[in-house]
Amino acid sequence: MIGIQIDLNKCNGCGKCVPACPFGLLETLGDKVQLKEGCTLCGSCQEACADEAILTPPVPKTDLVSDSHRGVWVFAEQWQGRLKSVAYELLSKGRDLAKNLQTELCAVCFGHNIDETSLIAHGADKIYLMDSPDFASNPEDLYTHLLVDLIRQYKPEIVIAGATALGRSFIPRVAAVLGTGLTADCTGLEIDLQNRLLLQTRPTFGGNVMATIICRTGRPQMATVRPRVFKSSVPDKGRQGQIIRLDFNKERITSRTRLISFAEDITETVKLSDADIIVSGGRGLGKPKNFKLLEELAGVLGAALGSSRPPVDEGWIPYSHQVGQSGKTVCPKLYIACGISGAFQHLVGMQTSEIIVAINDDPKAPIFEVATYGIVGDLFKVVPILIEKLKDNK
Ligand code: FAD
Repeated sequence: MIGIQIDLNKCNGCGKCVPACPFGLLETLGDKVQLKEGCTLCGSCQEACADEAILTPPVPKTDLVSDSHRGVWVFAEQWQGRLKSVAYELLSKGRDLAKNLQTELCAVCFGHNIDETSLIAHGADKIYLMDSPDFASNPEDLYTHLLVDLIRQYKPEIVIAGATALGRSFIPRVAAVLGTGLTADCTGLEIDLQNRLLLQTRPTFGGNVMATIICRTGRPQMATVRPRVFKSSVPDKGRQGQIIRLDFNKERITSRTRLISFAEDITETVKLSDADIIVSGGRGLGKPKNFKLLEELAGVLGAALGSSRPPVDEGWIPYSHQVGQSGKTVCPKLYIACGISGAFQHLVGMQTSEIIVAINDDPKAPIFEVATYGIVGDLFKVVPILIEKLKDNK
C-alpha cells in the first residue's frame, strides 16, 4: 500500500494527526494510529505529529516513457460558473498536441453550472466534469486531491493548465504529490514524436535564454501556460464529445481553507487580459501624472491601460497594469507602446499583438523591431495629436 509510514515505537496514540488528514484516513486504535487505504502522501499528518512518528517515503518514479499513460488533458479553469478564456486557448494547443500523438484530448473541469458543451466545441473529445456548489470559489486544496485522484485513475500522458493565480498555486502541488515534473509559465509547447515527449519552452535567466525542457521519467508531463500565449480556435458547435460526470464525495475530502471574501481589482476600468486595444506607458512618461495623457488616449479608443515594469516599480501605476514576463501576457488587436524601449521582458508579454504601434524618441529603440508602425518622436507631442485626430474622426 502506498502511503505514509507510522513508526509504532514513536507513536503514542495522541491522535493529533487524525483530524489533520484531509481524507479522514487516520484512526486511533488503542494507543496507536492506523492508516487506511488511499493515502496521497500530502504530508498534512506529518506536520501535526510532534513526536516525528510519521514518515513520508520517497515517491516512486514512473519508468522512462511509460506506455500505460495516454491522452492529453487540459485543466479547464472557471470562476463562478464561467469558463476562463485560457481554457479555450489551451484546448486549441492541446488539439495539435493530441493530433501529433494520435491520442484523445480531454478537458477536466471542476465547477458549478458550467456550460461544458463549449469545451467540446473548442476541441475536447471527452470532458471529466465534477459539479458542486463547493467549487464556485475554486478551493485549491480540494482541487489538488481531486486532480491527483483522476490522474492516478485515468493516467494521462500530458496535463496542461493556465498559469493563472489558481494554476500557479495548485498545479505544482499536483505534480509534487505525483512525483512528476512541471514546467511553469511556458510560452511554447511542441511534441518530440519519436520519444513521445512534450517539449516545454519558457524564458529563463531573466529572459535572456529560451529553455526547452523535457520530462523524461515522470508521467504525466505537466506544464502551465500563461493566458493569451496561444490563440483559441473558432468553436465548432457541431462537434461531438463525451461528457463523463464524476461524483464529488464531499464526505471523503474536506477543504482546510475557507474563502472569506473576494476583492476585485477595480483600478482596471477595462481588463487588460480581455482588451482589444491597449495603450501602454513606460519610463519615458517621466512621472506618474503623465499617465493622465495615456488615460485620455485610452478613453478615446475604449482601450485598457498597460505599463512596462519601471512605472509599476516606481509606484506610478498598480501592478495589475504591468505587461511582460513578470506581469501579464496580452494579445490585443492593437497595442500602442508609448515611451517603452522594448526590452525582451516586455516584448514576451505583448509581441503576439496583431498590430503594434510604437512611439519613442530613440530611433534605435528595440521596440521598433517588433512594431507594425513606428513613430519616432516625443510622446508628449505625438499623443495629443493622436487624441485630437481621433476625437475629430469620432
Ligand atoms: P526604458 O528601458 O528606460 O525605456 C524608456 C524608453 O522611453 C526609451 O526607449 C526612451 O528612448 C523612451 N523615451 C524617453 N522619453 C521619451 C519621450 N518623451 N517620448 C518618447 N519616448 C521617450 N519589464 C516589463 O516591462 N515587464 C515585465 O514584466 C518585466 N519583467 C522583468 C523580469 C525580470 C526578471 C527582469 C530582470 C526584468 C523585467 N523587466 C520587465 C524589466 C525590463 O528588463 C526593462 O527594464 C523594462 O521593460 C524597461 O521599461 P521601459 O521600456 O519602460 O524603460
